[in-house]
Amino acid sequence: MFDTAIIGLGAAGYTAAIYSARYKLTTLLVGEEEGGMGITAAEVGNWPGDIEVTGPELMERMKKHAASFTEVTLRQTRVSKVEKTKAGFRLTFADGKTEEARTVIFATGSNKRHLDVPGEKEFAGKGVSYCATCDAFFFKGKTVAVVGGGDSAVEGAAIVAQVARRVYLIHRRKEYRAEPYWVQKLREKNNVTLVLERQIKEIKGDQKVTELVLDKPFEGSDKIAVDGVFVEIGALPAVALAQTLGCALDERGYLKVDASMQTSVPGAFAAGDVSGGSNHFAQFVTAAGEGAVAVSGVFGFLQS
Ligand code: NAP
Repeated sequence: MFDTAIIGLGAAGYTAAIYSARYKLTTLLVGEEEGGMGITAAEVGNWPGDIEVTGPELMERMKKHAASFTEVTLRQTRVSKVEKTKAGFRLTFADGKTEEARTVIFATGSNKRHLDVPGEKEFAGKGVSYCATCDAFFFKGKTVAVVGGGDSAVEGAAIVAQVARRVYLIHRRKEYRAEPYWVQKLREKNNVTLVLERQIKEIKGDQKVTELVLDKPFEGSDKIAVDGVFVEIGALPAVALAQTLGCALDERGYLKVDASMQTSVPGAFAAGDVSGGSNHFAQFVTAAGEGAVAVSGVFGFLQS
């Protein structure tokens, strides 16, 4: 029986494991995909102490740090179920095996949102991508569109513009919600066309994506010829495991937490993009901060 089981291998999970080990708690750190959403960041310029670092680099360093403690057992597998037991919680893995822990921290992150338009599913992986920073290289010299108006889309468009011939950034509003740093960076690019107040109605193609159909004409046509489209319209918190356990959600669908990051189920905590903490501001620093707070909560819970 572990003192705590941390589910999720992103910034929140790794940080929680580091703190947990330093509190001398026996810790199971488990998740399906190493690095979480953090590995999709091409350039991180707001992690204190690093003027610039890539997401994959930062996540690799966090992993190494977490795995350096003898208190931490790191396992890469999918957790398919979390149940309450008399002494704590039972985790069931994809292969049917189980482990028990006195407390649990959900650091399960989020999943990319989809446009839900015709052609999106059909051309997924054939021109439709959900990670501009991961797949930009495949569109060297091509024409692509990026959809969205938040940090992911605007940062993604700036990154893709470094390799693509032309980039259309399609956003449904007049204003971006992205960090002004990225908006300015984008405006400096001469191969980026900003398509505002437009939405994609359909993605068309043959073997691969060839065309986007817009809801309203842009520069005289409601069609844009492209080789690919990056859907960067945000993410939905991965709450399924915690919800099955009975953890309550907040008004926006994130795990509801108190000041110690404890969910509505005693002994079950949450940290990072899955939680409604930090004013829903999904950043490396807030995920890491919440991971630390959650462990301090776990420590208090185990002592009481
Ligand atoms: P986001 O901030 O939620 O923005 C999503 C964008 O997609 C919004 O502009 C939204 O439009 C648009 N959108 C949503 N659904 C749509 C639909 N069905 N059709 C068309 N457009 C749609 O998501 P994000 O950009 O992925 O960022 C998520 C979090 O990660 C944020 O907290 C962000 O700060 C953080 N992040 C940070 C960095 C960084 O610091 N470098 C990088 C990436 C992400 P509306 O504006 O109309 O709502």
